[in-house]
Amino acid sequence: MAQQMPEIPVDSAVRIGKLDNGLTYYLRHNNYPEKKANFYIAQRVGSIQEDDSQQGLAHFLEHMAFNGSEHFPEGKMLEYLQTIGVEFGRSLNAYTSIDRTVYYIADVSTERQSALDSCMLVLRDWSSGITATPEEIEKERDVIHNEYRMRNNASQRMFERALPALFPGSKYGFRMPIGKMEIIDNFKPEELIAYYKKWYRPDNQGIIIVGDIDVDYTENMIKKLFGDIQVAPDAAKVIDEPVPDNEQTIYVSEKDNEQQFPIVRLAMKRDPVPAELKKTVAYLVTAYLNNLICAMTNSRFTEMTQQPDCPFIQALAQNESYMQLARTKDAMMLIGVAKDGKETETVQAVTREAKRIHDFGFTATEFARAKADYLSSLEKMYTNRDKMKNEQFANDYIENFLENSPIPSVEDLYQTMNMLSQQLPFELANQYAQQIINVDEKNLVVFQMEQEKEGKTYLTPEMMKTAVEGVRTETLEAWVDNVKEEPLMAEMPVKGQIVKETENTTLGYQELTLSNGAKVILKKTDFKDDEVMFQGETKGGMSLFGEEDLINCMIIDAAQIYSGLGNFSKSELDKALAGKQASVHISTKENRQYIVGRSVPKDLETLFQLVYLTMNNIKKDEKSMASFVNQMQMVLKTKSLNPQLVYQDSLANTKYNGNPLFGLPEAEDLQKFDYDRTLQMVKQLYGNGGQFIYTIIGNFDEQTIRPLIEQYIASMPAGTAAEGKEIRTFFTGKKVNRFEKKMETPQAQTTLIWKNDQLPYTMENKILLDAASRVLTRIYLRTIREEESAAYNVSAGGAIDVMGDKPVFLLTVQAPTNPDKQAIAEELMLKFINEACQKIADDDLNPVKETMLKQAEDANRENHHWMDVLTEWTAEGVDLQTNYVETVKGLTPEKVQAFIATILSAGNQASVVMMPEK
Ligand SMILES: [Zn+2]
Repeated sequence: MAQQMPEIPVDSAVRIGKLDNGLTYYLRHNNYPEKKANFYIAQRVGSIQEDDSQQGLAHFLEHMAFNGSEHFPEGKMLEYLQTIGVEFGRSLNAYTSIDRTVYYIADVSTERQSALDSCMLVLRDWSSGITATPEEIEKERDVIHNEYRMRNNASQRMFERALPALFPGSKYGFRMPIGKMEIIDNFKPEELIAYYKKWYRPDNQGIIIVGDIDVDYTENMIKKLFGDIQVAPDAAKVIDEPVPDNEQTIYVSEKDNEQQFPIVRLAMKRDPVPAELKKTVAYLVTAYLNNLICAMTNSRFTEMTQQPDCPFIQALAQNESYMQLARTKDAMMLIGVAKDGKETETVQAVTREAKRIHDFGFTATEFARAKADYLSSLEKMYTNRDKMKNEQFANDYIENFLENSPIPSVEDLYQTMNMLSQQLPFELANQYAQQIINVDEKNLVVFQMEQEKEGKTYLTPEMMKTAVEGVRTETLEAWVDNVKEEPLMAEMPVKGQIVKETENTTLGYQELTLSNGAKVILKKTDFKDDEVMFQGETKGGMSLFGEEDLINCMIIDAAQIYSGLGNFSKSELDKALAGKQASVHISTKENRQYIVGRSVPKDLETLFQLVYLTMNNIKKDEKSMASFVNQMQMVLKTKSLNPQLVYQDSLANTKYNGNPLFGLPEAEDLQKFDYDRTLQMVKQLYGNGGQFIYTIIGNFDEQTIRPLIEQYIASMPAGTAAEGKEIRTFFTGKKVNRFEKKMETPQAQTTLIWKNDQLPYTMENKILLDAASRVLTRIYLRTIREEESAAYNVSAGGAIDVMGDKPVFLLTVQAPTNPDKQAIAEELMLKFINEACQKIADDDLNPVKETMLKQAEDANRENHHWMDVLTEWTAEGVDLQTNYVETVKGLTPEKVQAFIATILSAGNQASVVMMPEK
């Protein structure tokens, strides 16, 4: 069938070209976000190209790309890019994987052509001008160690150990990009250069530039900058590394002290769509069917987890490259997280569902829902086609360059997929599912990861084999799909009215007052054509409840998510919402409660119905809730295994002075959870919709939204907001919390927090806090990361907590560090924050101001930014928008110095340090 399929036309809006030396480029003019451009260079090589003695060098080289090159000697690249508002990490970065290495500079302002030219020069340096001096290489060895330490968690360790068994007979078994630390420590500079020279060549490189650019001009620049790079006639070829088929099922099991949950993976390997077929509609058909099959399998898994006797707490189907690593093999992947002691049963259950799909396929109703969901997201993308962001296009072009994936225009894709989805019969999905999901001996891989613990019986490969083979011989019955065929709301509430309308011209919104007392803030925008955002809030929150409701408070938001609505149980509701792009949830904070939603314009009424039902008519669903409590129990029972969780818990404990509301509960505390009582609390907080202020922002129709507001918001009961007592219990004075934790990969964690609760919440103070954290981050990265190599990352952050009687300002510095250098890192954190009270260099503040202004400009075209601005305005009376730019421009080193000094002068400082146990 594939042979007769027509080719997919390439989007005519992208200019694709190739230089004589083999360099490919993709250029596209796009003006969203306005006046910005993104620059990428994608290398068709990664760690798979390394020799045995080079393991880790592909990734090491990526680091060197930022530390000195032909036109930007050491440090100059980051320095220059900061002057044009490009910040490392956020809009400047790179990643190395097994098969590719991609570098990028994003969101560059196109106001000045010279800045764009310089970005192209950076690309040129990355392609062939990285210097990698011995001194810079020496400095970076420790940085890589710190990165290794930070990433080396339980699943990473097990995955690395299992890799040779998962990829027998393939180099993929030995090429994790982070490499081997003994190689990182000892390689000679010329070995790195050798990898660089051998593989970074124009014929392996794609340049992608998308944004508000002059395409002709840019093309000429590329020819000028890259045209003279030579490729030797005998240059090494990039050869695909195959992943052999396995005739016998492969069973692999791994264990680790810090693994929290047993996880089972079933991979069903198959060959990927060949490159030449990727240009045809056959590829789109395959992608469409893969999408539907995963969606249908996932919703079966979700439904199963709501049964009390289900052996897994969660399961998931994904169609991806085999183990997300090998581009030469695809796999349908079924992943199950087992309940404690139910590892064997989970292997059986997941295998059994795969076999059931293979034997019987899906039902027509399951297919109809998955198709409706697919078409609805297709429609969403099409609606927003004029506002596609630069990076969306760029990512598609990167995939086209590296993987030959098709790049049709959104219009063509939309037409084609609409037509195909109408024509392709449901039986085809089942035939295809039968091919890609099967538990036969050949090409099946079963991989299990679990906790290592004394006295525990482990799931061995033999046990998994017995379990899978047992299921193969079972006779199964087809899946039965239960659906409820009725409208979401059978009866309409009595309509209320809009009684008053005023306009705010400063922030540009309408304010409606409703007959039940509710206020609605309406701001219509054209930032995204497919988005409407909704938020309601009022005072009260957890402060209204006493200690006896502690656990109920902690689970109240989840209780809403895991319950049904109206006449629908949780799973009936999920099914009833097929094809709808609308969702609503509650969010209960210390002294506030919020109802938050989002939809596309066409599903606005569904959004309103969900809001109405969530606030007035939650349906108890014991099974669904029990499955959630079960999951929580697993997490809490094993929290001490995960150093990261232990640390976050201790941090909260110190910050809030031991207040249990802000930490993680113990597993046994869950027994105090009372579902009925919690639903009562939801009713108390959310049941009087008339006391809320609602803010609606996005692309809604001004005329149709008013009747919806009257029908679903004005109809809710009136009420007055109640205020409880202060329940926050922040630390005061000096607090030190140092402790040791046993861990597999020794890594220290350090956090310092300064608190001041004597400052007013104003826009200027918010800006000062933000600027102070950014300046400190710059200083810390330069010293603690670059000069001392004590941490892979170190950052300062600010927060203003307004959830109580008075605003609390928090300034935090945090870093995972090398244990041997923890002391020096902490010392430097203190030293430089104290110095910053006296002196901040213009060179540190100016780039920060530049970045803040640039980010503010981008934020002005984002709905979520306006949601923050309007809700802060209505709830706190603080205008974070007007005069923002002037205030940032008016920042001086003296102002920021004085502000940091004020924060510190309150004398409240906490330090929380976790060290590995010796
Ligand atoms: Zn790295």
